[in-house]
Amino acid sequence: MATSPKNLYKLLLDTFGHQYWWPVDWKYHQRQHSDPRFEIIIGAILTQNTAWTNVEKALENLKKQNILTIPAMIHAEEKNLKTMIQPSGFFNQKAQRLKLFASYLEKKYGGDLQRFFSRDTSEIRHELLSMPGIGPETADSILLYSGDHLVFVVDAYTKRICHRFPFPVLSNSYDDIQQFFENNLSSTIPEKGRIPAYKEFHALLVELAKQYCWKKKPNCSICPLNHLCEKLL
Ligand code: SF4
Repeated sequence: MATSPKNLYKLLLDTFGHQYWWPVDWKYHQRQHSDPRFEIIIGAILTQNTAWTNVEKALENLKKQNILTIPAMIHAEEKNLKTMIQPSGFFNQKAQRLKLFASYLEKKYGGDLQRFFSRDTSEIRHELLSMPGIGPETADSILLYSGDHLVFVVDAYTKRICHRFPFPVLSNSYDDIQQFFENNLSSTIPEKGRIPAYKEFHALLVELAKQYCWKKKPNCSICPLNHLCEKLL
């Protein structure tokens, strides 16, 4: 049975409930008077090529040493930083990326994330994509979850679900899948609710994949979408 992204969103929401992404330790930032948006940026970089559970360990280490602010990241000793983020893998590259990103924000925007995000979405996206090690998924995660900009995040889970349903996307490319979801959701979800819906939808797709669809042999027999999915395995 064919369905639309909006119906899929509704079904996932009914099945798993609100995920309230991005996972941030709000209380920590209240206590520290720090900007939680920078933790989201750090998380978006650390989660490249690894599971979120590994990122959580790295973030916990950074938190213990209060390295979740732009100045602290700039001044952190690189060797120490690598040890802290080691659980997230690729720690040499990721340490460099984090430090470069923090230094860039400091130099160009005085370390003010409000200034950085208070511009046109496409301008910020272009800038993010020009930074070393920032691809579309990381850039869009930063834009949506840290900056509250309206962009749909596509990850490997989204690609797999698109393929399995299948949705009529032009190709399996990041841009085509993003365009498909954005076009569809912009005509079916009122403007005011779109940013929260994009945040939830991405998180719900991750939840679906984690619980049923991201296994070598997907658990189709008990998947809540098996009456819709055309690629039952
Ligand atoms: S029915 Fe199977 S292939 Fe389809 S979404 Fe569920 S787990 Fe994935």
